[in-house]
Parts: sequence; C-alpha cells; structure tokens
Amino acid sequence: MGTKEYVAKRNFKITPEPRGTKKTRSRGKQHPLMFVVQEHHASHLHYDFRLEMDGVLKSWAIPKGPSTDPTVKRLAVEVEDHPLSYGSFEGEIPKGEYGAGQVYIWDTGVWQPKGSAHEGLEKGRLEFNLKGKRLHGNWLLVRTSRAAGNKNQWLLIKRSDEYADLEEASPKATTKTGLKKNPRSLRLS
Ligand code: MN
Repeated sequence: MGTKEYVAKRNFKITPEPRGTKKTRSRGKQHPLMFVVQEHHASHLHYDFRLEMDGVLKSWAIPKGPSTDPTVKRLAVEVEDHPLSYGSFEGEIPKGEYGAGQVYIWDTGVWQPKGSAHEGLEKGRLEFNLKGKRLHGNWLLVRTSRAAGNKNQWLLIKRSDEYADLEEASPKATTKTGLKKNPRSLRLS
C-alpha cells in the first residue's frame, strides 16, 4: 500500500505526471470510488486500469485493454499503486523517463465493489460494478498467479449482464470514434 514505489520510479523534475499527495480525500465517510482506464502509448501500447481504494489507485496494466465480451479474458498485470491525482492525468511522459509515451484517459467513472474489496484483493477474486462512459455493469478480476514484487497476474473478465457485448472484443474498435483525438471530452470535470 502507498505510492512509495510510484514515486521512486519517476523523476518529477522531468515527467509531467503528478507526484501525488498523501491523502486527497477524507477517510471514514463513504464516497463514490473513482476508476480510470488510461490508454498508454509506451514502448508497447497498453491500457492501465485503476481502481480507487484506501486513498490510492490500485493499478493493473492490460496489454489488450478491457473486453466487453464475457467469453474473453484479458491479462491484467498488477503494478504499483498510483496516487489518486493520477486519475485525471493525461499527457506526454518524456523520452527516457519511466513509461515514456502519450497517456490518454480512455474511460473514467465510479466503481463499486461487491462485498469487501480488501477481502477480494486478498483472496484474488474481486467483483465489482463500473459506471463509466464506455465501461458499465459487472466485472471480475481473478488472480491467476502470484509473483515477487508487484507483478501478480490477473484476468479481467466482463460478467454477463445487459452491458455485455459479444461483438466488442477490443477497445481498438471504439478508439476509431474520434474520442481519442479529443481525449479531454472524457475527463471528469
Ligand atoms: Mn502504463
């Protein structure tokens, strides 16, 4: 827990990414939890999936991005916690820096765990609901292997519900809508 690893990997004199503050939301009282999916044009294009929990963004890198087809399981590699302020970050990470390349917000909104999120993370089975602009309904993250450091492997799977779509197996299809050219239209105000 915490963003020490995030801070250690980055030089904030060079990268425009947020350093993050300790806690930007009060604890205790329930508030809507944010999620964000960032399209990251690093050495390999991937989609960073982040869920707010305990004042940070729990994060997974998904090489192929989320699929709304419940029969498709997408590899999601657990990465270091990011600060909450990363949830609104878009921009160019300069060459030579960690994760160099363009970052766009591909989707954002609120998420809600089914039951205890802490227990889900611990047990390796996290069920939740998303209310985004692109992603909706029920989803599942299942841990398939544990690795040293933070590189546990998970699968992100769409659950069958009214938002499931067998045709839409890849986010690449929807980036053709032009939203990508104007990523700011997806930002939360
Ligand atoms: Mn990334």
